[in-house]
Amino acid sequence: MIVIGGGLAGLAAGVALAESGWRVRLFEQRPFLGGRATSYVLPDGQHVDNCQHVTLGCCTNLEDFYRRIGAAGKITFFDRLLFLDPQGRRGEMHAGRWPAPFHLTWSFAAFRPLTLPDKLSIARAMLDILRTKGKPPDLLENGGISMLEWLRRRRQTKDAIERFWRVVLVSALDEELARTDARFGIDVFWKAFLSNSTGYRMGVPAVPLANLYDGCKSEIERRSGEVVLRTPVRGLKIENGAFAGLRFDEGREETADAYVFAVPHTELGDLLPQSMKQSDPALANLDKINVAPITGVHLWFDRPVMADPFLTLLNTTTQWIFNKSALCADSHGKEKGDPAGQYLQLVISASYDLLQKPRQEIIDLCLGELWEALPAVRDAELVKATVIKEAAATFSPEPGVDRWRPRQQTSVPSLFLAGDWTATGWPATMEGAVRSGYLAAEALLRSAGTPRRFLQPDLEPDGFIGMWLGRQSAATGN
Ligand SMILES: Cc1cc2nc3c(=O)[nH]c(=O)nc-3n(C[C@H](O)[C@H](O)[C@H](O)COP(=O)(O)OP(=O)(O)OC[C@H]3O[C@@H](n4cnc5c(N)ncnc54)[C@H](O)[C@@H]3O)c2cc1C
Repeated sequence: MIVIGGGLAGLAAGVALAESGWRVRLFEQRPFLGGRATSYVLPDGQHVDNCQHVTLGCCTNLEDFYRRIGAAGKITFFDRLLFLDPQGRRGEMHAGRWPAPFHLTWSFAAFRPLTLPDKLSIARAMLDILRTKGKPPDLLENGGISMLEWLRRRRQTKDAIERFWRVVLVSALDEELARTDARFGIDVFWKAFLSNSTGYRMGVPAVPLANLYDGCKSEIERRSGEVVLRTPVRGLKIENGAFAGLRFDEGREETADAYVFAVPHTELGDLLPQSMKQSDPALANLDKINVAPITGVHLWFDRPVMADPFLTLLNTTTQWIFNKSALCADSHGKEKGDPAGQYLQLVISASYDLLQKPRQEIIDLCLGELWEALPAVRDAELVKATVIKEAAATFSPEPGVDRWRPRQQTSVPSLFLAGDWTATGWPATMEGAVRSGYLAAEALLRSAGTPRRFLQPDLEPDGFIGMWLGRQSAATGN
């Protein structure tokens, strides 16, 4: 069988199918694996991630995938999330001794960037999510309402929206609240913050992203498959009106029993012939799935300017600052490339306003914000800087977008789909991509008459939530 695309979706499908005894040939157009969640080396030898990627405790399939490929030990989990507002007030989120859903209550109560009325309005909305087990009934009105509308109906204060809901959700979902389906927003809070006391813990790779995937190649090759880099698929071979193989450069063609297309939806739309899109309604609407941007700003200073591993800024263009020197450190605690200085990576999700701005203007804007947030920056020299704008970083989780996301099994018998944009129920994340790869592998194995399960369950609700839901299911017999 053939997998097209070596991002997380293609790798998850490839590894799962290799484990199931299939000979997998994976074709990737670029010289490295990982797709959007990868890293590369600058001409001066510095490793940079395409953008900082983080996972959460509730991402059970990504965790399972890292374990399968021997990369779980390369992720460091943090249970303290730090926030800083423009007035210099710091806030922390960390689990206390109380069981879920109250594990974050103490740190939330002490959270200085929010006032008491802000906190009371947030608590009211959280109770609503809890009461409805993460499924408030107004979510599906007219095919989906926006997160902003949902929050307005719960009379959230301006700062509760700006300094809490927007901060968490724009980073998690890469879209403004007014353009985000409330279903995705509520799900983030239910899965990461309420139903389980470890769901919110943040996992950060301790190595450049591309180094996470070494185990994929060896797993596929160990089962007599191959991973072929620098080999873009150029089109589909159609014989007598039916899908019969793949076309590559220089007249090369490849055929297989089955194919998993794990490329971004924008590129799949270009590869598929018009006749195939017209005959399968699930493939006809790929162009209705819009995309959203993320901008990463990489700054190298001549000296340390930040002590924390990462920090979330409130009410600024810069949303997250990652201390790459601390996060990607060798045993001496120094970043390998530059032992004296410090490398910071800034992340700005839904960065529509930055797309047209010149790179120097973005660097100056971010430096101005760091000047206020990290006073040590004022004495430091900026050694070098780079800006990576990803205009199509993720699909936009707009209200109703799920109706355009195709399932992994198509109406063409040998053709399967994977990718964060396929129907997984999840937004565009590494977890969503791995889920899609596992679902594609399951669909293929089912159609071959050898069903096997790869998809992992969500975290079990724990604490009072676990007891409450357990009692309810015992009462209803479910
Ligand atoms: C800047 C940025 C920051 C992000 N931050 C986070 C984060 O913190 N946490 C998180 O969970 N998610 C994050 N994401 C989202 C995450 O990266 C994606 O959801 C996930 O990596 C998508 O995986 P995928 O396999 O579906 O697609 P991709 O990673 O896009 O993989 C598709 C692969 O197909 C290849 N390909 C395309 N066309 C062809 C062809 N014709 N022939 C052969 N190969 C082809 C591509 O080169 C690519 O390798 C971020 C994304 C970006 C861009």
